[in-house]
Amino acid sequence: MSFEEERKNLIESLKQRGYLSKPEVIEAMLKVERHKFVPKDLQGQAYVDTPLPIGQEQTISAPHMVAIMTETLDVKPNHKILEIGTGSGYQAAILAEIVKEGEIYTVERIRELAEQAKKNLEKCNYKNIKVLVADGTLGHRLEAPYDRIIVTAGALDIPQVLVDQLKDGGKMLIPVGGRFFQDLILVEKKDKKITKKNLGGCMFVPLISSES
Ligand code: SAH
Repeated sequence: MSFEEERKNLIESLKQRGYLSKPEVIEAMLKVERHKFVPKDLQGQAYVDTPLPIGQEQTISAPHMVAIMTETLDVKPNHKILEIGTGSGYQAAILAEIVKEGEIYTVERIRELAEQAKKNLEKCNYKNIKVLVADGTLGHRLEAPYDRIIVTAGALDIPQVLVDQLKDGGKMLIPVGGRFFQDLILVEKKDKKITKKNLGGCMFVPLISSES
């Protein structure tokens, strides 16, 4: 089976399992070639619904988690988005497929991964993704505020700096909990009030603050 056929089958199964329903997210996941975001020797597993190692003890998230997060984030074409935890760059690429007129700022603390992600993204010709090497727990103040913030590493709690960098009317998704298991939390800011909703369990590599 070709990579394209494998990708179509994966997306079909994500739809059937209820993870995917928004046409723009389905289109993005059909388009972005996940095998280009994993190490060569793991390309054969790129369309299995599982996280995969990408080096430096980090992982590319499972496709169903990318689907859930992208659907829930409710992304519009003109949004300015901040991602914390670039990893392979795959989630950023999915967002960029939807954000046609806006911009994606994605922050990674490990330089080697950021460099690899940049290469992965350049191959796919994305012009509106900026990969930054920094401690994402501080957000990215220069471009704040953001319409959407997506944290793809597990935090011990919600960094207030990130809440501050969210626009009024904005949404943030962040896994919050322990070292191995977290709850995916949707944070919304409306009329300067913050609401939090627990969307259920998830498993992410830890969000590591340079201060801890
Ligand atoms: N979204 C990625 C997967 C993220 S894995 C993808 O699509 O492939 C989580 C990433 O968060 C790891 O690469 C890890 O190095 C990074 N990370 C952990 N703590 C961080 C921090 N404080 N700031 C920025 N990146 C961080």
